[in-house]
Amino acid sequence: MRHTIETDVLIIGGGSGGFGAAIRAARAHPGARILLLDSMGQLGGTSTVGGVNNWEPGIGGLGVHYELYARLAPDAIGVGKTVHFSSKEEPYGFSRIDPHSSYESSLRRSALSKPDVRRVHFEPDIMAQAMHAMLSEAGVEIRYRTRFADVSVQGRQIVSVTAQPLDGAPPYAVRSKLFVDCSGGCHLARAAECTMAFGEEPHDLYQEPSAPDNASPIVNGISQVFRVTPAAEAGVDELPAAASAPEIQAWLAMRTPAAHVTEYPNGDLCVNVLPTMEGAEFHSMPYPQAQAIAQARMHAHWRRMQTDYGFDRYRFKSMFPLVGIRESHRLVGRYVLREQDVRAGLLQQPRQGEIIALADHPLDTHGERRVKGPKLNELAQPYGIPYACLLPTEYDNLIAASRGASFSHIAASSCRLSRTMMALGEAAGVASALALRSGVAYTDVAIADIRERLEIPAFVEKTLSNWGLRNLII
Ligand SMILES: Cc1cc2nc3c(=O)[nH]c(=O)nc-3n(C[C@H](O)[C@H](O)[C@H](O)COP(=O)(O)OP(=O)(O)OC[C@H]3O[C@@H](n4cnc5c(N)ncnc54)[C@H](O)[C@@H]3O)c2cc1C
Repeated sequence: MRHTIETDVLIIGGGSGGFGAAIRAARAHPGARILLLDSMGQLGGTSTVGGVNNWEPGIGGLGVHYELYARLAPDAIGVGKTVHFSSKEEPYGFSRIDPHSSYESSLRRSALSKPDVRRVHFEPDIMAQAMHAMLSEAGVEIRYRTRFADVSVQGRQIVSVTAQPLDGAPPYAVRSKLFVDCSGGCHLARAAECTMAFGEEPHDLYQEPSAPDNASPIVNGISQVFRVTPAAEAGVDELPAAASAPEIQAWLAMRTPAAHVTEYPNGDLCVNVLPTMEGAEFHSMPYPQAQAIAQARMHAHWRRMQTDYGFDRYRFKSMFPLVGIRESHRLVGRYVLREQDVRAGLLQQPRQGEIIALADHPLDTHGERRVKGPKLNELAQPYGIPYACLLPTEYDNLIAASRGASFSHIAASSCRLSRTMMALGEAAGVASALALRSGVAYTDVAIADIRERLEIPAFVEKTLSNWGLRNLII
C-alpha cells in the first residue's frame, strides 16, 4: 500500500509565488504544518533556476521582497540603471548596477521616463539560499526534486496529491487540508479539471479593447537565459555544432531579437534574448526538444552579440537549467483580471476593496502578437489584483498564486513580474493561515482581514498621496 503523509497546507511550486505563500502562511500560523514541493533542486523557480535574476521596476507593496533585499545586500544584489537602450542598429538594453540608486527607486514603473527607471539584479543561487533559509527559519518543510504528479478529489474538496520523488524513490500520497497551486502553469488546478485558458481570448469574451476578433494559441514568447563572464582578450566563443545547423542559422537570419542584458554584482552578465522561441511553438513540442532548439538559437544569437554588438570581451559561462516560460495555462477563476482593469487603475477599476496585490508594469508581450489598436505601453498609475483572481470556481480548499492565476492573456502580460507573483503568494499564504485557523473555505475568508495583514489599504492610501494620483483622470 502507498505511503501517505498528512499536512495542513500543501504548496506546489517554490518559485516567487510559492515562496511568498509559504513564508506568509508559516508566519501567520506558526503552529501549522506547511509542506512545499518543488521539482527543481532549489527555490525561486523562474527567477533563479530560470536565470531571470532581475526584479523589473514595479510597485511592490510592503512585502517580503524587502527582507530578501536586506539579506542579499550589499554583495549579492544591486539596483540597476539602463546604460544602453535598445535600438534598431544595436538591439539590446544594458542595465548596470548603479551604487547611487536606492532600492526604493526600483519600486515604481508607471509614469516614469525611461532614464528614471531602476531595477534589481541579484545572484540567483544566493537568492535561492536566502529563500531557503527564511522558509526553514519559519518552520516550512521543503521537499526538493519532488514533482506533483496527480490529484485525488471529492466533490468540492481536493483530498490528496501524488508526489513523485525524482531520485527514483516510490511515489507517495500527501493529504492536506488546504492546497496552494504555485506551479506557474497551474498543474494542480489543471489536473483537478478546473476551468483553464490558454492563448489569446477573443474580443467577445471579455470585451478587452485590444483583444483580437478570434481566439488563438498565441502565448508570450519563451527565453533561454544564460550567463557570460568578462574576458581579458577580445574574441568569440566556439559555436557548438547544433548552433551552426542550417535551420538555426536561418532562424537568426530572419530575425533581430533584442536582448536584455543585466549585470551581476560580480561583473558577469545575464543575457535574456526576447524571445528565443515563440510561445505557441515552444508549447507545441516536448520540453526537451524545445529546450535543445532554444539553447542552439541562444548560442547562435550570442555569437552575433559578440561579433556585431561589441560583446567580444565576454565569454559564455553557463546556461540556466529551466527554460524561461512567460505564459502557459491560466486558471479561469472567480474573477478574470482583464485589460480594462489594468487601464482603469487603482481609482477606477472595479473590486477596489478586494485588491490584495498591486502592479504597474506595461502591457508586455514578446514575439508574435495580435493585440489590436494602440499598444497599452507604459501605465499612468498602478492597478490592483482582486482576491477572486486566485480562486477557482470548482473547489473550496484550493487557491492559485503564480503566473497561471486568473488573468486574461493581455492582463497576464502586465502583471506576471516576480515581485508581483511574490505578492500574490503572500496573499494566498495569509488566506491559508486565516482559513486554517477558522476552519473555513478560501471563499469565506474575510478579504478585509487579508488586506489588513498585508497592510494594503494603508499602502494604497500612501501611494495615492505620495504619487499624486488622486486627480489623475485617464
Ligand atoms: C525569460 C523571462 C524573463 C523575465 N523577465 C522578468 C524580469 O526581468 N523581471 C521580472 O520581475 N519578471 C520577469 N519575468 C517574469 C517572472 O520572472 C515570472 O513571471 C515569475 O518568476 C513567475 O513566478 P511564479 O512563482 O509564478 O512561477 P515560477 O517561478 O515558474 O515557479 C513555479 C515553480 O513550480 C515548480 N513546479 C512546476 N511544476 C511542478 C510540479 N509538477 N511539481 C512540483 N513543482 C513544480 C517549478 O519548478 C518552479 O519552481 C520574466 C519571465 C521570463 C520567462
